[in-house]
Amino acid sequence: MNLLIMGPPGSGKGTQSKLIVEKYGITHISTGDIFRQAIKDKTELGYLVQSYMDKGEYVPDDIVVEVLEDRLAEDDCKDGFLLDGYPRTIYQAVKLEQMLTQLGMHIDHVLKIDVEPYVLVKRRAGRRVCMSCGASYHLEFKPPKTKGACDACGHAIVQRADDTEETAFKRLDIYLKSTYPLVEYYDAKEKLRNIHGFGTIERVFFRINREMDKYDNN
Ligand code: AMP
Repeated sequence: MNLLIMGPPGSGKGTQSKLIVEKYGITHISTGDIFRQAIKDKTELGYLVQSYMDKGEYVPDDIVVEVLEDRLAEDDCKDGFLLDGYPRTIYQAVKLEQMLTQLGMHIDHVLKIDVEPYVLVKRRAGRRVCMSCGASYHLEFKPPKTKGACDACGHAIVQRADDTEETAFKRLDIYLKSTYPLVEYYDAKEKLRNIHGFGTIERVFFRINREMDKYDNN
């Protein structure tokens, strides 16, 4: 099963993605994670994407498409994957379809997490991430056991550079302009599954499962 998850920045799609890939045993592909790792590893890709990410802007399509093409060709994608954070533009969606056709694959469901803007602001402000292992936390909804430290590896948890209020609003604006058109694109293909994103992590995950259970996912 190949899935795609989309939602505005702060909608919790990263958190839900982790639960989904665990349940369905599929590979999690997050272009944001790939870029953050590249920045951490100080690779050429990292240098290329850092300024866009820090400003809350999209990385140019040609870079993202190339990264995804390489990732999809890896063996662990053959038995199913969840794409998180890609596509973000119609161009990327069209390219994805071309890549998958070549690989004899297709997307089964597009999960769209819907969240009210005021909830997004609240969630964004509390978001923290471990600089070392990438584990994510929320000061209110998913606090670490020890204040300021990662449960998994003990390193400091910090606010992502693109999680400040200014960049967060910019990201929301860009999402609405560039990414929201994908809703119509996937709706026309009858792949779109709308999920209410308010409430606890468990509640949203329950709704995702309920939606998936409506379809034969074998
Ligand atoms: P995310 O972790 O998905 O929120 O992505 C973090 C940042 O990485 C975004 O704000 C963009 O700067 C960049 N990024 C990730 N995926 C894409 C994509 N598909 N297209 C353009 N930029 C992306």
